[in-house]
Amino acid sequence: MTNMQVRVRFAPSPTGPLHLGGIRTALYNFLFARKHNGTFILRIEDTDRSRFVPGAEDYIIRSLKWCGLEVDEGVEQNGPYGPYRQSERTEIYREQIRILVEREHAYYAFDTPEELERSREVFPEGQFQYNWKTRRNMKNSLSISKEESERLIEAGIPYVIRIRIPEDETVVFHDLVRGEVRIHSDNLDDKVLFKSDGFPTYHLANVVDDYLMKITHVIRGEEWLPSAPLHLLLYRFFGWESSMPQFAHLPLILKPDGNGKLSKRDGDRLGFPVFPLEWKDQASGEISRGYREDGYLPEAFINMLALLGWNPGTEQELFSLYDLVDLFSIERIGHSGSKFDPEKARWFNHQYLFAKSSSELAPYLESLLEKNKISADRDYLIHVIDLIKDRVVLTPDLWSQSWFFFSPPTVYDENMKSKVWRPETGQLLRDFASGLNALPDLNSDSLHHYFQEFTSVRQIKTGALMSPLRLLIVGSGQGPGIIEIALLLGKAEIISRINSGLLFYHQLS
Ligand code: GLU
Repeated sequence: MTNMQVRVRFAPSPTGPLHLGGIRTALYNFLFARKHNGTFILRIEDTDRSRFVPGAEDYIIRSLKWCGLEVDEGVEQNGPYGPYRQSERTEIYREQIRILVEREHAYYAFDTPEELERSREVFPEGQFQYNWKTRRNMKNSLSISKEESERLIEAGIPYVIRIRIPEDETVVFHDLVRGEVRIHSDNLDDKVLFKSDGFPTYHLANVVDDYLMKITHVIRGEEWLPSAPLHLLLYRFFGWESSMPQFAHLPLILKPDGNGKLSKRDGDRLGFPVFPLEWKDQASGEISRGYREDGYLPEAFINMLALLGWNPGTEQELFSLYDLVDLFSIERIGHSGSKFDPEKARWFNHQYLFAKSSSELAPYLESLLEKNKISADRDYLIHVIDLIKDRVVLTPDLWSQSWFFFSPPTVYDENMKSKVWRPETGQLLRDFASGLNALPDLNSDSLHHYFQEFTSVRQIKTGALMSPLRLLIVGSGQGPGIIEIALLLGKAEIISRINSGLLFYHQLS
């Protein structure tokens, strides 16, 4: 690949939010481009107007940005091969389809939906194919005279343009992931290339653009593998075979349980997002969760996706985008589907959050505090984060694991109380609070010493003091070591919480 200027494209259709499989496709294209000092292109394939969803293109762009996948040429950046939105390129497709018709590799078909339906009914369910066997019996420019078809076109009768798939030929190509792929032309149908609405279908627009945009490698999802032979024939019919890109079809991302392809429904069912960012469906108003809003870091999300289908050949699991660029190769993309594991996604996020310093995490906690209308000193925040960091999986955990450092509990875990509270506990805590009050200086040593002395004098187990104390300070069994909590909250706050708790339980005598 030394002399080739690598150009790859991510070519989503704006039919809704991008699924995490789509982001993985974008990621692999991006990595491949960066690895080979190539160009990463974003092309919006919006020629299917019936499936067009407003806002989807913007969502795609925002998602790539959040993931850090910087686009070199695309709808926002433009570039030498634009426009990069297919709906703005219809003239180009019109011209190219004209060439194919002229060369008799494509033909006009005038069959109405009803006529097509009738033909389908003649065959066993799902077996009708518009192909060399049936096209003679259909209404098209191959079965009627040239004059007749010109007359129909002039009369404004709706038509589509179909590819003329050759008879009895095996189409063979080499896929960089799958190896040799062969398909007999009997299994291909005369797909529509140009529709009656004046827009090309995906197949035509995709091939024409890959050629005109000088794409060298097509890296895309496995669902497009069955279309590849058709695309190959198009390259041949256009006479573009020598500049045909190489293909790499990525294995599916499978549901966590069972074998099917991962879908939004699996996410809803098992409680995890399948979209990078939150998405609001304009029509139904339904909101779908996003990784960003759930509290994932983009670095973790990308790392997790990179390993869903590719492996570095070692046991290493944590990779920055920079590392991935360095290591990525198509040869190490697996052949079979990878099961999505939501727990593993959480694991990655924990690793990335934990690796950050507490001051890097402070802004996340600050914004969560703001939502709860709490303000706190930066240094205090950093100390709090030091104590809870190892329990944080998603960014909102920074708050759910630390709220008691900012306000006293208002409810107490009754279940815990029934387990840890003895008849003498109230008195014990009263004594503990007054002893604490008398301590001249509160530091780690003095506090440890005080706890030790307090329990040994009374000949009680540490838990007999610590557990009810935690109940009154935190409201439950949650949180880091009680001594660390106490040190941060300070003497006055601890005593006040003990008193409030005792008051709540009517044990403040
Ligand atoms: N527009 C197609 C999609 O939505 C692109 C497939 C391809 O990359 O060729 O996935």
